[in-house]
Amino acid sequence: MKRKRNQPFYDTGLKFECTRCGKCCSGFPGYVYLSEEEILRIANNLMLKPSQFIDSYTKIVRILGQHRLSLIEKPPFDCVFYEKGCMIYEIRPYQCISYPFWRRHIVSLREWNKLGEFCPGINRGILFSKEEIEDLLNNVPDYNIMNFSPNFLHHLNSGIKEKNM
Ligand code: SF4
Ligand code: SF4
Repeated sequence: MKRKRNQPFYDTGLKFECTRCGKCCSGFPGYVYLSEEEILRIANNLMLKPSQFIDSYTKIVRILGQHRLSLIEKPPFDCVFYEKGCMIYEIRPYQCISYPFWRRHIVSLREWNKLGEFCPGINRGILFSKEEIEDLLNNVPDYNIMNFSPNFLHHLNSGIKEKNM
């Protein structure tokens, strides 16, 4: 059936099922941004103070005019939580949960299929509806440190390494 003008290419949904191959977690540089809520949740789960978690597992990066906290990497550009799989899978950040439904991958069928050359989960398994895809696209948390609560900025000041500023 022919798509109407303004209908997104994913109008009838897209298939995706993670094979847990780990390719998107390892082997190349990248950022995994963290919201305030995610930092508190992951730190709590690891039984760390937020400032300890920030100090040990994050760095500040500047992107799109914002300062954000991102997970650090270990050689050779693996996510700090990648060890033959995600060590925090059940509490992984939204950025990981929502992959591969990121705006830059959903701009066209061509981009989506191109991603399939990298990610073996593309176009297989579970059918995500248009509404589910748009929920994932529209619920990205606020990563801008300047919008975090004053209380959180206190943790940040205590925990962040000067070299990352
Ligand atoms: S590259 Fe794709 S299939 Fe492999 S772990 Fe990442 S999301 Fe899953
Ligand atoms: S937090 Fe887990 S899912 Fe996210 S990049 Fe790191 S290892 Fe992968």
